[in-house]
Amino acid sequence: MFNRLRVSCALAAVVLTGAAAPAVAQPALPRVHMVATGGTISNRDGGRLSAEDLATSMPGLERAATLTYEQFLNVASSQITLEQWLQLARRVNELFAKDQGLAGIVVTSGTDTLEETAFFLHLTVRDPRPVVVVGSMRNPSTLGYEGAANLLEGVRVAAEPTARGKGVLVVLNDEVNSARDVTKTDALRLQTFRSPTHGVLGIVDRDRVTLFRDLLQRHTAKSEFDVTRLTALPRVEVVMVYQGATADVIKAIVDLGAKGIVMAGAGAGATSGDQNAGLDYAAEKGVFIVTATRTGAGRIAPNRGGQGGPGGPNGPATVTPAQQRRRAFSVSSEDHIPVKARILLMLALATTSNRDEIQRIFSEY
Ligand code: GLU
Repeated sequence: MFNRLRVSCALAAVVLTGAAAPAVAQPALPRVHMVATGGTISNRDGGRLSAEDLATSMPGLERAATLTYEQFLNVASSQITLEQWLQLARRVNELFAKDQGLAGIVVTSGTDTLEETAFFLHLTVRDPRPVVVVGSMRNPSTLGYEGAANLLEGVRVAAEPTARGKGVLVVLNDEVNSARDVTKTDALRLQTFRSPTHGVLGIVDRDRVTLFRDLLQRHTAKSEFDVTRLTALPRVEVVMVYQGATADVIKAIVDLGAKGIVMAGAGAGATSGDQNAGLDYAAEKGVFIVTATRTGAGRIAPNRGGQGGPGGPNGPATVTPAQQRRRAFSVSSEDHIPVKARILLMLALATTSNRDEIQRIFSEY
C-alpha cells in the first residue's frame, strides 16, 4: 500500500563512491507522495497499471523528488463516488497531518471528470502544500502515451516551493492550471485542459516550473469546509436550460429529495418559460437554486434570480409572493461552471441552509 522508491538513494551512493573530489553533502530531495486513482493514465490494454508501475515509469525522477505512493482506487474518473471523494479528501489531509516534511502530493485521475475531483480537493484539503492532479489523454498502450511525462511534471510541481499556497493544481501537457478555473474543453486533444476566463497559472519546462500568478479566492488552508466527520454530501443536481425545457424534470428532482439544483442557464442565466414554474416549485419546497451559465465562461451577478427570473434584467417589474420566495432561495454561481457550482453547493449545504451564507460562499471561493 505504501512504498518508497529507493532510486534517489542508489544514485547518491554512486555519486559518493565514484567521485575523486571530497564528498559534499547533497541537499535532500523533496519528498512527494502519489495517490493513484486510475483513469487513462493507468488504463493499459490487458490490465491497468498499478501505482507502483506508474511510480517506476519516470526516467529522471531521481533528480526531482523521492516518491512514495499508494493505490487508492483504479477506476475511470466518472466512476468515483461522492463517498470516495470524501475518503480521498480525508486521506490527503491525513497524509499531510502525519508528515510535516512531505513537500506535496500528486493524485492521478482519469481526465473525464478530473476537474471535479480537483475542485473538490481544492475546497476540502486544508493544508497550503501543493496537491497536483495529473492524468493523460492517451493510454499506456498507445504510441505517444504522455502519462509518464505528465506524472513527472506533476511530481516536479508538487515538489516546487512556489506552488505552496496556490491550492490544488492540475498538470497536463506542460501546463499548470488552477483546479478552480480549469475545465476539459476537448474530448480527445492533448491541449484539452484550459482555464477559459483566467488563463493558465503556470508552465513546466525542462529547466524549471514557472508559476505566473496567485489565486485570490479562498481554498485549501483558508477553506472553511471540514469533511473530517462528513459521511455523505447533500444531493444536488444540475439541470440544463434549452429551448422547450420543461418544469416536470425540475419537479421530479425536487420530489426525489434534492437539496439544491444548479441551473446551467442560457447566456447570463436565462431559463425556459416552463422551467420557471419548476423553479417556483423548488423554492416552495425549500430547495436552493444556483444560477450558472451553460456558455462555459462568465459571471452571474448575485441577487438577480437569473435573467428572466424575478429581479433579473428581463424579469417582471412587480414581484409576487411566489417570486419573493424564489428569490429567497436563489443564489448566483458567480463564475463557477455548473459542475463546479454543484460541488460548492453540496459543501455549502452540508454546513448551512442560510441563503445569504450560501451566496457569501459562492462569492468567496
Ligand atoms: N478517460 C477515462 C476517465 O476519465 C478513463 C477511462 C478508464 O480509465 O477506464 O477516467
